[in-house]
Amino acid sequence: MSIKSDILVIGGGIAGISAAARLAPDASVIVLEAEPAIGHHSSGRSAAIFIRNYGNATLRALNAASAPFLAEPEGVCDASLLSPRGELLLATEDDLSKFNDYLDGSDGLERVSPEQALELVPILHKEAIAAAAIEWDAQDIDVDRMLQGFARKLRSHGGKIVTGAPVNSISRENGLWSVVTPVGEFSAPVVINAAGGWTDAVAKLAGVRTLGLSALRRSAVLIPAPDGHDINRWPLFANAGDQWYAKPEAGKLMISPADEDPVEPHDVWADDMVVAEGLHRFEQAVTIPVTRVEHSWAGMRTFAPDRTPVVGFAPEADGFFWLAGQGGYGMQTAPALSQLAADLCLGRLSPLDQIVIEALSPGRSALEFQQGQDT
Ligand SMILES: Cc1cc2nc3c(=O)[nH]c(=O)nc-3n(C[C@H](O)[C@H](O)[C@H](O)COP(=O)(O)OP(=O)(O)OC[C@H]3O[C@@H](n4cnc5c(N)ncnc54)[C@H](O)[C@@H]3O)c2cc1C
Repeated sequence: MSIKSDILVIGGGIAGISAAARLAPDASVIVLEAEPAIGHHSSGRSAAIFIRNYGNATLRALNAASAPFLAEPEGVCDASLLSPRGELLLATEDDLSKFNDYLDGSDGLERVSPEQALELVPILHKEAIAAAAIEWDAQDIDVDRMLQGFARKLRSHGGKIVTGAPVNSISRENGLWSVVTPVGEFSAPVVINAAGGWTDAVAKLAGVRTLGLSALRRSAVLIPAPDGHDINRWPLFANAGDQWYAKPEAGKLMISPADEDPVEPHDVWADDMVVAEGLHRFEQAVTIPVTRVEHSWAGMRTFAPDRTPVVGFAPEADGFFWLAGQGGYGMQTAPALSQLAADLCLGRLSPLDQIVIEALSPGRSALEFQQGQDT
């Protein structure tokens, strides 16, 4: 006997859980998650930062649309999910053209001198700074509270999350998708594919054309706070050439080598050599040596070929909905993307500009070549 609902969501990361929560007041929704708990993969491994100017024009529109919810997550959490952090962008001579391009296309960044940069982050190597700018509006996101808040909202409207339920077969018959997991069979007229790094694999299971999504590994480590420094109020500080970034994290310093290595989707771990090379690049920018790594991890950032998320019904497969390719922006854009997913699934008008909705569409021309490639 299969369990019926209006909508099945595959994937219990921030994408799947937030979309399901937005749908639950108006539809019966079941989320199927392979792992024993939600948020086990990318959504539990992010740097948890909101940067308004991060990403292309479509992403910036989504960042702006998400900001009011993150500040006042009404109906999901009882207090703001944001807290002040700031982002200090640092350029060496080699990074100047990338740095200038970023500043030209951004709002709200303020150029600062190397001396001012050192006041903000005293361990910086002054001679290594050719230019610097601060984005005060960058903020920490309480990502766990956001995920749990959406899960609570989903359940309070009768929605269900089934964990330990890896989907291993998907078929369509008589207008219904039939989804098989080791813990039972489920069916619904609409399936939302929110499987993170596995979204193309899930499409393949369903016989739907894949979109050429790539899962790219991003690693991070925690080191002890540098001796004699209270780091808690430091901004995130980042190399403008995407060589590394660092941010205070619960009294420690998180450093990422800003790696983007393609991987087969799996439970990904940090690669020692990638971490070592990244830490070496970080050490060129600061006056402290890195002597001890306390913890390391990695997650997948999944991108479409044009680095824009994919949200909408597959043009060639009835009831198959993509919510994929959130890349390095999936936490900060979750409020807007989940609202759009719910609006499109329920046939409601979205408050987002049509140009943004079209840029996210699985039918957009940038994905046409990939759509022809394989199933
Ligand atoms: C190191 C790092 C730093 C980052 N920093 C930021 C940041 O500062 N700000 C930001 O906005 N974003 C950041 N990101 C990106 C963000 O984490 C992702 O965009 C977001 O988590 C993607 O969410 P998701 O729900 O799509 O994927 P996931 O969280 O990976 O969820 C997908 C889920 O689908 C499940 N699944 C897959 N296949 C199946 C199947 N067949 N059956 C059932 N379940 C299945 C998986 O088990 C998984 O739980 C960062 C990512 C990394 C790795």
